[in-house]
Amino acid sequence: MSKTNSPIRPLIDRFGRHVEYLRISVTDRCDFRCTYCMSENMSFLPKSQVLSLEEIEQIASVFIDRGVKKLRLTGGEPLVRRDIMTLVERLGDRLQSGLEELTLTTNGSQLRRHAPALFQHGVKRINVSLDTRDPAKFAAITRWGKLSQVLDGIDAALEAGLRVKINMVAIRGENDHEIVPMMEWAHQKGMDLTLIETMPMGAVDIERADQYLPLNQVQERLAKQFTLTEDPLKTGGPARYLRVGETGGRLGLITPLTHNFCEGCNRVRLTATGDLYLCLGQDDKVSLRDPLREGGIEAIDGLLDHAIDIKPKGHDFEIDRKKPQRNVRRHMSVTGG
Ligand code: SAM
Ligand code: SF4
Repeated sequence: MSKTNSPIRPLIDRFGRHVEYLRISVTDRCDFRCTYCMSENMSFLPKSQVLSLEEIEQIASVFIDRGVKKLRLTGGEPLVRRDIMTLVERLGDRLQSGLEELTLTTNGSQLRRHAPALFQHGVKRINVSLDTRDPAKFAAITRWGKLSQVLDGIDAALEAGLRVKINMVAIRGENDHEIVPMMEWAHQKGMDLTLIETMPMGAVDIERADQYLPLNQVQERLAKQFTLTEDPLKTGGPARYLRVGETGGRLGLITPLTHNFCEGCNRVRLTATGDLYLCLGQDDKVSLRDPLREGGIEAIDGLLDHAIDIKPKGHDFEIDRKKPQRNVRRHMSVTGG
């Protein structure tokens, strides 16, 4: 139930940042096991601890009533959650009342099946994660994924009318040589490409320092080959954008390690168990699930002020071989990136 007639009491934190963006991890489960994201043997949450789709909708609605304009569904893999389209449809209805954008981040494996319904329910653009277009490398990075299925999913999304942005985690020695061809391929298909620095989150089976590729180095290399100009695009996200003269496309850079983006942070993250994390790189959180189950949406509304009040100034991710690893213990799939 939403309260669209109540006046909006905006969510503004101690540092004057206006929280207008909620990312929702609808499941911690996934049909892939990307090496930088998960260990091969992950244990997942029991169902009783996971919010129902109705509970997610209720919490999202309270956020929209408090001025959140953008929702992103993520995971785990959001499109493997059973009946996920019913949630997309219900949230899509809020695009008429308060919500300005509903979007999702996906690994693309289920897009052939779901892309038309996503578009029909008001999703206009999505992010698809793709780190390589080499089938063997793709199988190695995702462990369980099949490249042809994801490429077909991307085509299905474009055919359905969705705008697609490709997210590529830059992995030293793995896909650095593919950055240029990936960019040319994406731009030729009318898709933006965003490169992401690997972040030290959760225990994985590889050494983070081996994988870490600073994007300032990549940018310097690209600048020798392409005409890069700053693009003023602001999506409310952490990416900086460059326009690439030769391809006419846009290149985003998400650089939590080489360039901290926290001063403009406008987002918070809800996990599948109803924990509201106030920062991707810190442990500060407020649990919304039990208060919702015990006290309904009124209880949630009251908790949001406290939550926004404890939003940390920023993360302190660092990957340095010479220092002890400072890791956020939860995996990226808990908060969905
Ligand atoms: N399964 C979906 C997907 O892969 O797009 C959504 C969830 S996934 C956790 C969201 C994004 O986080 C993906 O683009 C993924 O590549 C990225 N990611 C996962 N672990 C990461 C890490 N340790 N550092 C940087 N990005 C990471
Ligand atoms: Fe799954 Fe996405 Fe994590 Fe890969 S990055 S394991 S697709 S949640």
